[in-house]
Amino acid sequence: MPSDPKVALSTPVSDEVRKTTCYMCACRCGIDVHIKDGKIRYIEGNRDHPVNRGVLCAKGSAGIMQHYAPARLQAPLKRVAEAGHGIVEDTLLTLEEEGDEFLLMGLRLREGVDPARYLALTGRPLDRRRIEALEADGLLARFGRERLAVTPAGVPVLDAVVADLAA
Ligand code: SF4
Repeated sequence: MPSDPKVALSTPVSDEVRKTTCYMCACRCGIDVHIKDGKIRYIEGNRDHPVNRGVLCAKGSAGIMQHYAPARLQAPLKRVAEAGHGIVEDTLLTLEEEGDEFLLMGLRLREGVDPARYLALTGRPLDRRRIEALEADGLLARFGRERLAVTPAGVPVLDAVVADLAA
């Protein structure tokens, strides 16, 4: 008896499927992200993934909104509380504030900070003389292609700077 002819049961909704992991919670389910014309069309569970075996919760399915929700943040914001009224609003960080955040967060990472990235972000270079002085004091170290990171001796100093800023 001849086998059943192959019938397309549904029209493909995407021209590319990328396999990745859902980061909407700590479970890290495997997902197949369907992409058409460079945009995410929908997300489904990866049937071969050992964690979820194709099952996806509502939050995971809604992961598409992380990319296309109108409320998605388009730039780094600073949270500002208005005293006395419980009003909280978000304001855009200035370039200088963005640069400060970049340095304070990046210097303590193992991969450190790329001065060229800082320049591209803020439009101004890092102060070479100050960096050399911090290196001479053993608080900063240079490695790789000019990347900068705080040394173990520099960590308490950086912590004190952050604490001062947060006070
Ligand atoms: S699909 Fe749901 S359960 Fe799985 S990682 Fe995403 S949010 Fe968590």
